[in-house]
Amino acid sequence: MNPAAVAARHLKSRRHKNPDPPGSDQACCGLITSHHGVEVEVVFATGKRRMVRVKRSSGHVVGDEVEVRGEVLRRLPRRTELRRGDARGGIHLVAANLDVLGIVVALHSPAGFIDRAIVAARVAQLQPFVVVNKCDLDDTAALLANLQRIYGGSVPVFALSAASLTGLAPLQAFLNAGRRGVFVGSSGVGKSSLLNALCPTIDLRVGTVSAGNSQGRHTTTVSSLHALPGGGELVDTPGFRDFGLVEILVEELASHFPGFEDHGEVNCRFRNCRHRTEPGCAVIDLLAQGQIPADRYTLYLELLAEIETGQGEARSRGWKN
Ligand code: GDP
Ligand code: ZN
Repeated sequence: MNPAAVAARHLKSRRHKNPDPPGSDQACCGLITSHHGVEVEVVFATGKRRMVRVKRSSGHVVGDEVEVRGEVLRRLPRRTELRRGDARGGIHLVAANLDVLGIVVALHSPAGFIDRAIVAARVAQLQPFVVVNKCDLDDTAALLANLQRIYGGSVPVFALSAASLTGLAPLQAFLNAGRRGVFVGSSGVGKSSLLNALCPTIDLRVGTVSAGNSQGRHTTTVSSLHALPGGGELVDTPGFRDFGLVEILVEELASHFPGFEDHGEVNCRFRNCRHRTEPGCAVIDLLAQGQIPADRYTLYLELLAEIETGQGEARSRGWKN
C-alpha cells in the first residue's frame, strides 16, 4: 500500500475540512510517518506529504494522527500507545496507534523475553505474535517445536528465515490484513533483516550491532512508518530495536502470562491472585492436574519474583525523591 492509501485508510473515518495540505490556515488531517527530532513528516489523504517543525519535547510520535493548520499540529486521540524503557530508567513513547507487536527470536534468545513482551503487548492492547527467525539453521527446528508447544495456544507463531527469504508468506498475509506493527527482540536476532525482507524500500544495514545504540549515544534517531506492498505497515524505531519494553507490573504478569490467560483472572478466587499460595487459585489447580507444565509455572514464579523486586526498588526510589 502506498503512503497515500495508508493515510486514506487511517483517516477515512475523520471528516476533512480540506483534503489538501494547508498552504494557509486551512486545517486538514494527516498521519505522522517519520520523526526527525525537530520535524515530522505528515502524509495527507491526498498522498501529498510535507515536513512540519515540532519542538523536541512535543510528544508527537510516528503513527500519530494530526490536524495540521499552517505550522501548527494538533494531535488527535490515540487508539494505543507503546512505551519502552531506557538504560537510565526513563520511559519513552515508541509509536502510536499500533495494532500488533512482533516478538522476534532466534537461537539463544534470553529466557523470559517472549513472556515479558507478550504481557507488555497485551497491557498496551496490542496483539502479540512470535517470529522465530533463522529457520535455515538446523538447530532452530528444536527451538521452534518448543516455542510452538509453549506459545502456539496463546499467540500466532511464524517460522521463517529473513536472510534466505523463506517462510515469509504467512507473516505477510497476517500483516497485509491492515495491521500496523513493530518488531522487538534482542540484538542480532534479525529484526533489520526482517524489515528489509518485508519492506523492499526500507534498506536497513544488517549486522550493525553496536554498543553505541544501547547506551543512547546516537542522538539523531529517525523513526519511520513503512507501508507493506500488500497492505499493513511496519514502524522502524532504531532506538527500540536494542532497548527493552517498559517494565510490567506484578498484576499485569499474573493476568496476562501466556498460558494462564483463561484461568487466573477468570477463575481464581481472588481477582488479584498472584498464583503462588493463595487459596482457590485456578492456576495452582491446573498445575496439580498437569494442565499447566511445571517449567512454565517455574518461569512464571521467577518473573514474578524479579518484577516484585523491581517494583519494590522503584517504590523505595520514589519515596526517597
Ligand atoms: P538485528 O540486530 O536484530 O537487527 O539483526 P540483523 O538483521 O542485523 O541480523 C544479525 C545477524 O543475523 C546478521 O549477521 C544477519 O545476516 C543474520 N541473520 C539475519 N537473519 C538471518 C536468518 O534468517 N538466517 C541466518 N542464518 N542469519 C540471519
Ligand atoms: Zn491464582
